[in-house]
Amino acid sequence: MDRTIYTDDHRQFGSAVRDYLQKNVLPNAEQYIDDKLIARDVWRGLGEQGVLGLEIPEAYDGGEAEDYRFNAIAQEELAAVSMAFASSVGIDFDIVTPYIVKLGTEEQKQQWLPQIASGEAVAAIGMTEPSAGSDLAALKSTAVRSGDDWILNGSKTFITNGYTCDVAVIAAKTNVEARARGISLFVVDASLPGFQRGRKLDKVGQPEADTAELFFDDVRLPASALVGEVDRGFVHMMEKLPQERIGSAVANVAHAKQILAETVEYARERKAFGQSIGSFQHNKFLLADLVTKIEMAQAYVDQAVAAHADGKLTAIDAAKVKYVSAEIQNQVLDSCVQLHGGYGYMREYRAARAWMDARVTRIWAGSSEIMKEIIGRDLQL
Ligand SMILES: Cc1cc2nc3c(=O)[nH]c(=O)nc-3n(C[C@H](O)[C@H](O)[C@H](O)COP(=O)(O)OP(=O)(O)OC[C@H]3O[C@@H](n4cnc5c(N)ncnc54)[C@H](O)[C@@H]3O)c2cc1C
Repeated sequence: MDRTIYTDDHRQFGSAVRDYLQKNVLPNAEQYIDDKLIARDVWRGLGEQGVLGLEIPEAYDGGEAEDYRFNAIAQEELAAVSMAFASSVGIDFDIVTPYIVKLGTEEQKQQWLPQIASGEAVAAIGMTEPSAGSDLAALKSTAVRSGDDWILNGSKTFITNGYTCDVAVIAAKTNVEARARGISLFVVDASLPGFQRGRKLDKVGQPEADTAELFFDDVRLPASALVGEVDRGFVHMMEKLPQERIGSAVANVAHAKQILAETVEYARERKAFGQSIGSFQHNKFLLADLVTKIEMAQAYVDQAVAAHADGKLTAIDAAKVKYVSAEIQNQVLDSCVQLHGGYGYMREYRAARAWMDARVTRIWAGSSEIMKEIIGRDLQL
């Protein structure tokens, strides 16, 4: 079915990003996996392509697209390379940057936005802690006043871009007596004394995404590091979550769609019992089921992207689309592995990698259970 959300402008932008990724990134994919890192020249290249500055006003060297469909088409192209590219780059331009653009002070914008737009600075977001993931209000890191400054202590875990980030938006308690109402956000310069990174975490999938623990040991933050209002950090995060979830949903479907297309190709080529494995009725029906499911998911995600571009995507709808896209992505990729037989279990095959890469999409950015909790709450049962 034809998709209707994108105009020629979006498609041209998407195709320029795809060209860049195919020429400069895919040939080095193994290297990034071995290094457990996306190289800096890729960040700069994506800066030149205009991806990293999509959310950034022209006054700070961004592209000021002001149309979420550009973010979405960029996410699709990144996810077609690998889920790690969609997550690492997506966190930077689609998740962290809006905090600084929408809530940041003039000083923060001037300091960070031009560098983020060009790819000189990589951004991360630190919400999750060892004892606070789904229950974010339970976080324990603290930022305590010291004159005009703040002293940050505590730790974060599972932070995407954590090992290489230059700047991170960090959530910390500014009122330890309160739960959600005692959290504030800070734009933290990662070169400050006391800002320490743990090892790169050894994940099941997405090896090229650097994911790390962060430790804060008396990090002295200037008053100007506060982003948004004191004690309103939880509200700020909740306001930004629909964009995080629609971005995830776009990547989930694009990723599964790409690997499914590669699997259809494989099923045409691979022979067993003198015929292509795709021509066995079971596999033909399976593939028919999968392509239909993906098209259905695509239509749903497209509708949500259009709603978000119009500023109308609700938190409930964002939860629905994030939930269902992650579940379908995982079902599709599990079948893609099956259709590859033993090769589907070999890391050198994209289907195997994609399957491992995708498992986390049902956990991060709000797990499927939390998404169902949000959706269920709306039913007022
Ligand atoms: C690769 C990776 C990258 C990540 N990147 C980032 C990042 O950049 N920044 C960041 O801040 N965080 C990041 N995260 C953290 C991620 O968002 C959390 O892992 C996620 O929110 C779940 O939290 P948790 O791991 O503490 O699990 P828990 O909250 O301990 O949940 C454990 C299980 O209990 C279930 N559960 C919890 N509460 C309920 C409930 N009320 N009802 C039913 N079931 C429930 C969950 O669904 C889950 O199945 C990342 C995680 C991973 C794995």
